[in-house]
Amino acid sequence: MTEEAARTALLRFLNSKCCYGSKAAGELVIQELKQLTVYRYRLETFHESRLSEWAFEPFPPAGRPRGAAPLPGPPRLPAPPPFRERTRRLRLPHAALVKECHGCHGHGRSKCSVCHGAGWTRCVTCKGSRRSLKQQKRCQLCSGTGRKRCNTCSGRGSKTCAMCQGEKKLQHFKQLVITWRNNVFEFVSAHQLDLPGELLSRVNGENVFRDENVQVYPVADFPEPEICLASQRAVAEHSAAFAASSRILQQRRGVCSKLRSLASSLS
Ligand SMILES: [Zn+2]
Ligand SMILES: [Zn+2]
Ligand SMILES: [Zn+2]
Repeated sequence: MTEEAARTALLRFLNSKCCYGSKAAGELVIQELKQLTVYRYRLETFHESRLSEWAFEPFPPAGRPRGAAPLPGPPRLPAPPPFRERTRRLRLPHAALVKECHGCHGHGRSKCSVCHGAGWTRCVTCKGSRRSLKQQKRCQLCSGTGRKRCNTCSGRGSKTCAMCQGEKKLQHFKQLVITWRNNVFEFVSAHQLDLPGELLSRVNGENVFRDENVQVYPVADFPEPEICLASQRAVAEHSAAFAASSRILQQRRGVCSKLRSLASSLS
């Protein structure tokens, strides 16, 4: 890279930031250009966790006749492809009970939240004064009543209960919630250079190596000791975070490198 190319790159960077001045960059004397290899280490851990929780649905459920046995869940739940996050719910058999709906106390209807049960709302044109504001005549929109029928509940003051869909009863059941998550640990070497971390994490250079297994080990003999240390930390952190509470299904790790030019200068 030439001095001119370095200056152009610096100016382009400064111009992309609205509040950075570019005067100093235009005038500074570039003393030395250095080539430097930046390495990025990345560990991904794909893990599965399970928990069971209570859920409910209207009883009888829509589309199923009263008294029909609950549908059995899928016989098995295959894991998604590695590193794809997903959540699935599996209904557990033999753990269901039917209770009065707690949303409407078994009435099947609940108070309309727009008119608060009244069935009407204040006329928006005369604001309830019954007269049109400009002409002091009877308001035409509400025929001088100051009220309008509530559109949300069609004047009934109540709506079909959303929780039980008007069925008055709820069936509570237990379900298994299975979550597949992918967690990423990333480390970029050469932090002592004071380059913005955000810039460095976008290092998408050449792959030095990359592998994948049920469990991966720290990098042992990499020429950059920082990368070996970071990989030890990554493997330890992920195993502490996920081995106990969930099941690690797959891990992949990789190091990629990128050559960067650095200019040191006098301003
Ligand atoms: Zn209403
Ligand atoms: Zn009115
Ligand atoms: Zn209800």
